[in-house]
Amino acid sequence: MKLRTLTVFRHMLPVKGGGYRMANAFVERLETTIVRLESDCGVIGWGETCPVGPTYAPSHAAGAQAALQALAPGLMGTFIDQPVLVQRRMDSLLNGHNYAKAAIDIAVHDLLGKKTGRSVADLLGGAIRDRIPSYYASAVGSPDEIAEIAEEKAREGYPRMQVKISGRPVEIDIEVVTKVWERIGGRMQLAIDGNRGLTTRDAVMLSNSCRHIPFILEQPCDSLEDVIAIRPRLHHPVYIDESATDLATVIRLAGQSLVDGFGMKVTRIGGLTQMARFRDICEVRHLPHTADDAWGGDIIAAACVQLGATVVPRLFEGTWLAQPYIEGHYDTGAGIAIHNGHIDLPKGPGLGVNPSPDLFTDEVCKFS
Ligand SMILES: [Mg+2]
Repeated sequence: MKLRTLTVFRHMLPVKGGGYRMANAFVERLETTIVRLESDCGVIGWGETCPVGPTYAPSHAAGAQAALQALAPGLMGTFIDQPVLVQRRMDSLLNGHNYAKAAIDIAVHDLLGKKTGRSVADLLGGAIRDRIPSYYASAVGSPDEIAEIAEEKAREGYPRMQVKISGRPVEIDIEVVTKVWERIGGRMQLAIDGNRGLTTRDAVMLSNSCRHIPFILEQPCDSLEDVIAIRPRLHHPVYIDESATDLATVIRLAGQSLVDGFGMKVTRIGGLTQMARFRDICEVRHLPHTADDAWGGDIIAAACVQLGATVVPRLFEGTWLAQPYIEGHYDTGAGIAIHNGHIDLPKGPGLGVNPSPDLFTDEVCKFS
């Protein structure tokens, strides 16, 4: 089965409620990039990548689209039912740019699943369950506001909440964590996410001040070196998110026991082929991790859920979705959504979602 057509679209996703704030980014709407592959036998596969604006990570929408345009001519006519070979072919055409390659890799899996009648979870090793836990991520907010959201999310059935902090005096962050814990106690697992925004001083102060509260501390400081340096002085397990940029870094962190877990994003690591390898490395070292993405619609959400369903449950920290923050679905009949803090594995072959045929109209490029 050879690749006949590759089309790239841009698509705007408005953020509900006027915007979303993190330590180093504020976004009101996001430009997602959609990849549509068509094989020589007429099967279609969809992929997606959606950086959270240009400052969250070293990736942005125009960068994804430029990388896809650079990759596409070299992929025409290749056998696309062999994801590992497609991955190698992409690496031979362009260095880096994992987040752009991920959109093609996801589309290849969707297409292969639709061709063979198997779900992407099956292609990745097999689903362990058909409903997976999600977690709720608060924006950076005031202590009372975040404690109120935590109460609401615990009642909705979320098993875990990620509280965003930093970008302000650490005393406020300490108050947020304390109030959330006072409000929900052990009803939800807690992750406190600095999104690279804390100094080493503030990360140590936060952990010291909250030593009686059980939570994991996610990517508190900007660099891996800073996080590794302060880890022995912290009272909480440390997960790495933004700094785990590739599998080589993951292997180093896992192999040298420098981390207690990961927040991992499918597009950052390069797609589902790389994400399945990441999952297996974590399983060998008994490291908990998430399986999610920065932002995006039903296509990337389905990719995360399909992978998430294959992760051994005791190591699975859940799949975050942008769905509660954005309007509408690509697939009006089978869009991916969170119910009571959990997500159903979509049914049907491939990713299990089929975007409405005329939804994507803003074409960036088309190769055939
Ligand atoms: Mg994070």
